[in-house]
Parts: sequence; C-alpha cells; structure tokens
Amino acid sequence: MKQQQQQGLVGEKRRVVVVGGGVAGSLVAKYLQFNADVTLVDPKEYFEITWASLRPMVEPSFGEKLVINHKDYLTNGRIVTSSVTNITDSDVLTAEGRLIPYDYIVIASGHKDPLPQTKTERLDQFKAENDKITSAQSILIVGGGPTGVELAGEIAVDYPDKKITLVHKGSRLLEFIGLKAAEKTLKWLRSKNVDVKLEQYVDLSSISDGGKTYQTSSGETIEADCVFVCTGKPLSSAWLKDTILKDNLDEHGRLMVDGNLRVKGRENIFAIGDITDIHEMKQGYLAQEHASVAAKNIKLSMAGGKESKMATYKASSSGLAIVSLGRKEAVAQFPFTTMIGCIPGVMKSRDLFVGKTRKKMGLEA
Ligand SMILES: Cc1cc2nc3c(=O)[nH]c(=O)nc-3n(C[C@H](O)[C@H](O)[C@H](O)COP(=O)(O)OP(=O)(O)OC[C@H]3O[C@@H](n4cnc5c(N)ncnc54)[C@H](O)[C@@H]3O)c2cc1C
Repeated sequence: MKQQQQQGLVGEKRRVVVVGGGVAGSLVAKYLQFNADVTLVDPKEYFEITWASLRPMVEPSFGEKLVINHKDYLTNGRIVTSSVTNITDSDVLTAEGRLIPYDYIVIASGHKDPLPQTKTERLDQFKAENDKITSAQSILIVGGGPTGVELAGEIAVDYPDKKITLVHKGSRLLEFIGLKAAEKTLKWLRSKNVDVKLEQYVDLSSISDGGKTYQTSSGETIEADCVFVCTGKPLSSAWLKDTILKDNLDEHGRLMVDGNLRVKGRENIFAIGDITDIHEMKQGYLAQEHASVAAKNIKLSMAGGKESKMATYKASSSGLAIVSLGRKEAVAQFPFTTMIGCIPGVMKSRDLFVGKTRKKMGLEA
C-alpha cells in the first residue's frame, strides 16, 4: 500500500520535466521516456553535439549528423520548444506562460547559447559561416579556449592559405587544461602559421559585419575580412535566481547538488551537467555520466526504492580532455601525460565522437 501511494495510482506514470536539451538533458530524457511521463523543455527543436560543431564551419554537410531533432530520439516523450523561466513547488513555467506540473525535475540548462530554433536554420547558419570563411583571405578569431583553438585548427588544416589571427586575453591557451597541453597547442598552431597573440583582447563592441581593421588592447592593428567571436558562453542560471532554488546557487551561479545529483535539500529536483557545482572539469562525457546516475535514481525513487540504494556520483579527477586540431590531429591530456598529434587525433578528430554519441542516443552512427 505504501509503495502504491508513493507511485501515485497504479499504472499512472510520474511526471518528469527536463529543463534543457543539451548533452545531459537529452540523454536523461531518453533514458526515462518509457518509465515516466517525460517533458523536455528546450528553446531549440534539436540536440546538438557541441564538441563537433566547429567542423561544419569548414564542411557544412557534416552538420546533418550532429544536429539531431529531439523527436528522433525522444519518441515517447513530450517536447516543449521554449525556455523555462520559473519553478515553483508544483510547476515549471515557460517563457510563453505555459505551466507544466511535475513530480520530478531534472535541471540541465548548462550554457546559454543563442542558437536558432530549427535544424534547418542551424544548418543554414553553418553554410553561411562556411561562406564567410571561403570568401575571406584573412580571419580573426577572438578567444583561445577550446572553441577558438578548435576553430583555428579546422580552418588552418582545410584552408592553409588563409591568414588566421587568434587573439586571447589570457597568458596561455586552453586554460581549462594543463600548461603542457597549452604549450604544445601553441606550438602546433604557430607551425600552421596561425598568428597567436596572447595577453591581448579585442574590444568586442568594435566588431561589426563591415569592419576590417581591429585594434587589440596593446595597440596592435589586425586586418581581417571576417571575425569569429569564440569567448566562453555564460552559464544559463540567471533564470534560477527568482525561483524556489535561488538559495541553491553557489557564487558562480552553479546549482549545488548532493552525491545522488539532487539539488541539495530537494528530494525530487535533480541537476546534471555543466550547471552543477561538482568539482571536476566541465566535460560532456561527464555530463552523460550524470544523466545516467540521475535516471537511475529517479527510476528507483518512482518505484518507491530506499534512498540508501540510490546511485552516487563521484566527481572525476582524471583531467581527461581532448581538443581537436583539424581533421587528423589533436592534443590530449591523460591522467599522467599529455600528447599531441595523430594518436589523440585518431581518438577524436576524424568523426569528433559523432558516431559514438548518436549510438548513445539510440540512433544510427
Ligand atoms: C569547442 C568545445 C569542445 C568540446 N569538446 C568536448 C569533448 O571533446 N568532450 C567532452 O566530453 N566535452 C567537450 N566539451 C564540453 C561539452 O560540450 C559540455 O560539457 C556539455 O555540452 C555540457 O552539457 P550540458 O547538457 O550540461 O549543457 P549544454 O550542452 O550547454 O546544454 C544546455 C541546454 O540547455 C538549454 N537551456 C538553457 N537555458 C534553458 C532554459 N532556461 N530553459 C530550457 N532550456 C535551457 C540550452 O538551449 C541547451 O540545449 C566541449 C565544449 C566545447 C565548447
């Protein structure tokens, strides 16, 4: 009897609302779709394999496989194309004013990225970016994190005659990984004639479509036919500041979670992926692990299982990260060494884990 009460009426599925259809949210929605009444709320109609999204800028047809409509893997769930703006004790509220009642929420709102709503628009955007690259002689990339470095690598390998300048305000590239990997990357980029300028920045407000001359903070002038701004994307947590979870945000705007990936002090609200305060590198393969742990725990809770039986997530300390450098090479940080060249390239750069990720989503590679 007790178990029946916890499950609601026998045969009635519990309502799970997933906030965000990125790496973590899409996967948890997929894992739960046949066990619960799942609603996925995302401003885009698709899930995009983020770590592969620079390749279509040099090869637009590559975009077809990495932009996956939510309806292709979420065949037994509801998709609401909108942003969540509020959460109360009983409902999730969307930007259009829709109230979605819930029994469980999984927050996976990661980073804010103003991407177009439909897959067609996103593929058109890749084509437009590719046109910009092909018609330019000189290209300025602002930002030397993974996005700026991977983009520089893609362009330098596919278009070796373009003049590429990469401006980064930090004293080294790829600050999220170790110094050795950063130094090897700098050397590699310079060997491909990418002009890397460290400890300088470009005033982003001076960037316009028609502009061709840019000043760096050190007074250097850069001529460029086109510019790509690859500075980090902000966390999507501002919307949480007026919700019942406002006190669960840390000073960086990340949601504080317990070992079972529930928001601290909440039994039925989970958080996964980059939005969490878990002390580890923010990586998609770890966000996928979070999705698996949260799905297991929600299934257990829905079945009235004991809290002590819940799966726990242990923060990763491996530091494993691979940054692609064009089609064949990459720089990798493993637990005890860093490596650059074709060996890590074989691991990531050929298909950028697209086949593996699609399989995880239950789709053909
Ligand atoms: C260039 C680059 C290369 C990378 N390479 C790798 C790699 O090789 N391997 C790896 O493991 N990781 C890699 N990463 C990191 C990886 O992409 C992130 O860790 C991963 O995307 C985090 O997933 P997430 O689901 O937490 O957030 P995100 O992927 O940021 O997804 C968040 C989702 O939430 C949605 N959203 C935001 N706000 C709201 C709201 N209010 N309401 C509803 N929806 C909302 C967004 O639209 C988005 O769909 C790379 C990242 C970059 C930038």
